[in-house]
Amino acid sequence: MNTYDLIIVGAGPGGSVTAKTAAENGLKTVFFERGRKPGEKNSSGCGLGPRMFRDFPDLMKELTPDKCPSMREGRASRNYFINKDDVVAGYIMARPTESVSYEPAKSWITMNVYRSEFDPWIAKFATEAGAELKTSTLIVDLLKENGKVCGVIDEKGQKYHAPIVIGADGVISMVAQKSGLRLKWNQNQVTLVPQYDFYAPSDKIDDIMGDETLGIWWGSTFPSSYQVFFRESFHQGLGNWMNWWDKNPLYYLNRVINLKYYQRLLKILEAKPRELQAHLLPWLDYPYNTHTDGVILIGDAGGFPCPLEAEGIYPAMVTGKIAAEVAAEAISSGDFTKDSLKKFDERWKNTSIGEEFEVGSELWTIWKALPFSPNETMSWFVPMIMEILGGIFDWSQPHAKRVRQIVSHMRSYMPKATPFVMKYVFPLVAKIFEDDLDKLMDPKKIMKVLPKILNMLPQKKKKRGGQEK
Ligand SMILES: Cc1cc2nc3c(=O)[nH]c(=O)nc-3n(C[C@H](O)[C@H](O)[C@H](O)COP(=O)(O)OP(=O)(O)OC[C@H]3O[C@@H](n4cnc5c(N)ncnc54)[C@H](O)[C@@H]3O)c2cc1C
Repeated sequence: MNTYDLIIVGAGPGGSVTAKTAAENGLKTVFFERGRKPGEKNSSGCGLGPRMFRDFPDLMKELTPDKCPSMREGRASRNYFINKDDVVAGYIMARPTESVSYEPAKSWITMNVYRSEFDPWIAKFATEAGAELKTSTLIVDLLKENGKVCGVIDEKGQKYHAPIVIGADGVISMVAQKSGLRLKWNQNQVTLVPQYDFYAPSDKIDDIMGDETLGIWWGSTFPSSYQVFFRESFHQGLGNWMNWWDKNPLYYLNRVINLKYYQRLLKILEAKPRELQAHLLPWLDYPYNTHTDGVILIGDAGGFPCPLEAEGIYPAMVTGKIAAEVAAEAISSGDFTKDSLKKFDERWKNTSIGEEFEVGSELWTIWKALPFSPNETMSWFVPMIMEILGGIFDWSQPHAKRVRQIVSHMRSYMPKATPFVMKYVFPLVAKIFEDDLDKLMDPKKIMKVLPKILNMLPQKKKKRGGQEK
């Protein structure tokens, strides 16, 4: 009899952590994967952030190169700035900085792995904990009795029963659609991301890139493009929200590949293109509608990728763990209603995911308006940054004169930069420092400080007899 305590649709990182947690909580659990094995489509999403290692230590300490041979640390990120003539006008190298407090994050930014290795690796923890994994099984609908969700049905008509179904089925999410939580994303909630997978010999990557194994290509004429290095390969991709594209997305990705600088890099790395992939990725200012009677959505299905950088694996794992714990409590109380499952929302809001989404709208808005607005913001942002960073290196004038020239030239950016700062930067800063601003704006404090400030201002000398001079 196909009866379970909990059904999970999807065996990505989110589904596997859900299944593992549920099995550990004593639930009879099944999780379904339409691929022949988890990670079969090798969807990108390959940079693992340090938060995963901090919050899932028992699991992540097991991730070693013998389990995932593609592993490579992304220790430093090179930010290339490309001008409107498709010339790399300059770059900034970024490493973890002095203020980083989590020890491992002081030496690397991401741990890069292929999903074709990572997803089966993480699914194994769930099966070892006792969850049943059914691969090559496409779930096509939810089963309902008296309007209530009571299981799922696969494409062959096989039925599986459980009082709670967790949608861990990624961006398209059949569970979201069939439960009525969401029919489809709005075009400004989902991005399309084409990417090339290149082979390159590992010794070439070591010698040429060193530990600069992440790259961001800030384009004036294409949306920002990311580059992630693995042991003997790398990905180059770029994306944008569905309502942005005016041309085939490949046109923009090929602009990066065809940069002279990029072609030189391919040549010295002896890189060969292997595969072209295209994926959808939800990218929201806030995850709305994440649960209803008998259903919870986690990870991409629920819209949880980070509102700034779309890091999605960690949120999928965190929300999966919480969903399994909430499901276990619901099963022991026998209450599967939306009201009982709202604990899911209450709990993820108290995690670092919730903290991220507190400024989700501001982060998402500024990001859309900056690296994802080529020809608009980026057309003045790139030369402005290069003027600041590189302007002084000029041997045609005395340096003091050059500084005056740069400062005077910077004024020409003000008509564009000022509205941008007012519209996007101020709201973000105000939200991030909300509490401090409240303190600063405290009327009592202002009244206390104001006289001191006024005393510091130049005073008009009094005339004899009390009249001003
Ligand atoms: C190009 C790109 C780059 C990215 N880079 C990063 C990155 O560097 N770091 C990062 O953290 N995140 C990144 N992300 C995001 C990350 O890939 C996702 O957020 C993450 O995979 C979400 O995990 P998930 O378990 O929720 O869903 P998924 O990983 O999408 O897993 C869903 C699983 O469900 C299966 N499935 C779907 N429907 C059904 C069905 N009806 N029946 C049975 N099985 C089904 C799928 O086959 C899949 O295996 C990137 C995404 C893209 C597209």
